[in-house]
Amino acid sequence: MTSTPTPGTPTPALPATGGAVPRRTVPNTAPSGGALAGGALAGGAMPGTAAVGGAAVGGGPPAGAESGGAPVVGAPADGAPGAGAATGGRARVPMGAPAAELRDVTREYGGGNALVRALDGVSIAFPAGSWTAVMGPSGSGKSTLLHCAAGLDRVTRGRVLLAGQEITGAPDAVLTGLRRRTMGFVFQSFNLIGSLTAEQNVALPLKLAGARVRRDEVRAVLAAVGLGDRLRHRPRELSGGQQQRVAIARAMVTRPAVLFADEPTGALDSASARTVLGLLRAMVDREGQSIAMVTHDPAAAAHADAVVFMSDGRLVDRLVRPTAREVADRLARLEAAPC
Ligand code: ADP
Repeated sequence: MTSTPTPGTPTPALPATGGAVPRRTVPNTAPSGGALAGGALAGGAMPGTAAVGGAAVGGGPPAGAESGGAPVVGAPADGAPGAGAATGGRARVPMGAPAAELRDVTREYGGGNALVRALDGVSIAFPAGSWTAVMGPSGSGKSTLLHCAAGLDRVTRGRVLLAGQEITGAPDAVLTGLRRRTMGFVFQSFNLIGSLTAEQNVALPLKLAGARVRRDEVRAVLAAVGLGDRLRHRPRELSGGQQQRVAIARAMVTRPAVLFADEPTGALDSASARTVLGLLRAMVDREGQSIAMVTHDPAAAAHADAVVFMSDGRLVDRLVRPTAREVADRLARLEAAPC
């Protein structure tokens, strides 16, 4: 059902080393039908003739990739029993709904001569139980996309849905509640509270959500990210990779429907980055989590189920389970393209 271990039925530790991830087919989780299926990109946001991941954009699901409805979040992505899948999770995605969805979203900043269109008619669905990486040149709108999808930023036009629920124009209080129940966040800068221990940092979202904090549950999540022996350490006593693992544990503990990750490996050395990416991969494969991740690193993006590419506020391409080389090549072409 959902994602975090429950006391008494501990989830086997997620891989601590985050080694190579076996290639597998994209889970059967794309939104059904409509312009938002078919590679999760609507044709309107794309240059006319782009073909994505071997499938035409804006039509049906890419061959061999996605079809049918999305399972309840927390269901194993590959149909195997979810290791330690907990019962009683808080956040679910309704059957068939993407974890998060933007429909024809435009986001403009400023006005007049200073107007910046950071997003220009973007439609994308982040499938439930799947990991989507967002790439593109600097300034192409990646962070704005992520922030709009997470309700951290308001859209100028268009609609945003989270776990099947419309959040466009939702009052702040509603958004805050949704964020606590439905979303997890992992940022490049970890964003841990320096005065709190690892255990206290992980318990914080539960406290903020008014949920009962079960110490054994918090400890099980920290053990799952390989930090069972660092419970009382404060962030400054941990390495960057360990801090990011605490941040991932903090994001897991509320069993969110979708995890938004903004450059989660941007501040890490390559070994720590691999560990973190392995943990994220395990969240999807074993726990059925959904991840939307912005990254500039092709090696990181290659851990995702699909990689979408942005340029100048638009989605311009999508690759399904590409290699790091394929991602790097596509990115290089985008960066070389005249604006
Ligand atoms: P990326 O994440 O791909 O580097 P961003 O989403 O951060 O790109 O930014 C896209 C565009 O929107 C850029 O031109 C950026 O300067 C602009 N932008 C982003 N946030 C703001 C803001 N708060 N105010 C004005 N312009 C912004």
